[in-house]
Formats: sequence, structure tokens, C-alpha cells
Amino acid sequence: MQPKPDRAAWLKGGNSNCNIGFGGPAEGQHRFVLLGAPGVGKGTQAELLSDRFHICPLSTGDIFRASTALAARCECCPAMLRALDYMKAGALVPDETVLALIRERAKCLRCNGGFLLDGFPRTIAQAEALEEILAENGVKLDAVLSYELPLEKIVARLGGRRSCPQCKKVYHIESMPPKKAGVCDACGVALFQRDDDRPEAIRVRMQAYEKSTTPLTNFYRGKGLLISIEAEGTPAAIFNRSLEAIQSFAKA
Ligand code: AMP
Repeated sequence: MQPKPDRAAWLKGGNSNCNIGFGGPAEGQHRFVLLGAPGVGKGTQAELLSDRFHICPLSTGDIFRASTALAARCECCPAMLRALDYMKAGALVPDETVLALIRERAKCLRCNGGFLLDGFPRTIAQAEALEEILAENGVKLDAVLSYELPLEKIVARLGGRRSCPQCKKVYHIESMPPKKAGVCDACGVALFQRDDDRPEAIRVRMQAYEKSTTPLTNFYRGKGLLISIEAEGTPAAIFNRSLEAIQSFAKA
């Protein structure tokens, strides 16, 4: 089995190189963008799709998370420190900062292995800039997969989520409950609910998503790149639906 790329070029930027280089032909590789509100299960689908198509999941949120530990020790990157403040507050990082990070990582976009962008673009300005960056690098998007679920179901999904403070395992009070209510199976400690998973916070996150990111579905629909996928059911069912949708889109 092919090892997973460590995404060093993406996560660390600069001159970092990934543990596996893709030397294959550019033809036949996949270049996707994933869209979806918090709680639709987009992260899980990104993992499944990247395994199936052997493409790197490139998440902008992961860049910020990877930099959190570094930034704590390093005062030399003020733009990143400011970006992390936005992230901690649950707000979107300004376009300018996000785009600077993407431009520094353009080699990941022209990688012959293809890519799966997750969490970027999030605004129309980012989508327009992405078009420019891709054109400068001589590559095109194949499709934009948009995972869709009604708001009430998202609130129920995120609202039932509980995490273990020790091993970080995530449960759901209905669909994946621990053996003993409120207690981690492995560690035996009390589970907690993330502040931003409380119903009021979820609604605020959803409003931010609808305002900034929903217009992207129209943007990509207009370009004939949008594939809408119902994000209802188990991760496996959603994954099968994604594969079928990608196949029919490729044939059309
Ligand atoms: P995610 O893991 O995609 O939910 O991202 C976590 C956080 O990182 C978001 O809440 C934002 O603060 C920030 N972030 C990630 N990607 C972007 C983006 N494309 N534009 C602005 N902020 C972003």
C-alpha cells in the first residue's frame, strides 16, 4: 500500500518537501474542492476520497492548527499570529492572510498527484483568487463537491457531539454513544461538549457559513463545476453517493 503523504509542503510551507513525491503524469489526477457547512461530515469524506483517489487533502484549517504549536514559540510571523487569533475566536481569517498562505504553497496545487482542497475557498474573493492562482500554475479544477444537509440536522449532529478531554475520541449521544453515558470508554473520564458545539454557537457558525460560503455554490454552479451531494446517513453511504455523483459528472 502506498504510504500517506505527510503534507509537509502544505503544512509547513517554505521549502519543505513531502515524504513521497508524485512523479506521475498530470493527466488523470483529480483536482477537487470540497464545500460544506460545519457538521456535515466533510472532513470524514475528505479522508475517504483522498484514500480512494490517492490525492492529498489540503485543508487550510490544518495549516492554522499545525502553526498553533509553532506560533506559541515563535514571534517571527506576526501575520500567522494574527490569523490564529481570528481562528480562536471562531471567525474567518482575513482573505489577504489566507491567500498569502496559499500562494506560498502553490507547488501543492500544481503537484502531479492532484489535490483535494478542504476549507478553501471560503469566500468569493478567495474563489476568484484561486482561479487566478490555478491559471498561473497551468491547472484546472475537475469539480467542486458540495455536501448539503438541512440546518436542523446539522444542529442535532453537532449538538450531540461529546469529546474525551484525554484521548480526544469523539462520541455522539445518539449515533455513537459511549457504553456508559457521559464517560469515555477508553479513559473512564467525563466527556465534555465543545463550546462551539452548543446550539447557540452552532447557529452563529452557521450564519457565518451561510453569509460567506453559501454564495460559492452559485459561483461554481455557474461555472458548471458543482456537484451537490446529500450529506444524510452514515459516512459510508455518503461516500458511495459521492463516488456515484463524481462518476456521473465525469460522464456528462
Ligand atoms: P476548518 O478546520 O476548515 O473548520 O478551519 C478552522 C478555522 O480556520 C476556521 O474557523 C477559520 O478561523 C480558519 N480558516 C480555515 N480556512 C479558512 C479560510 N479559507 N478562510 C478564512 N478562515 C479560514
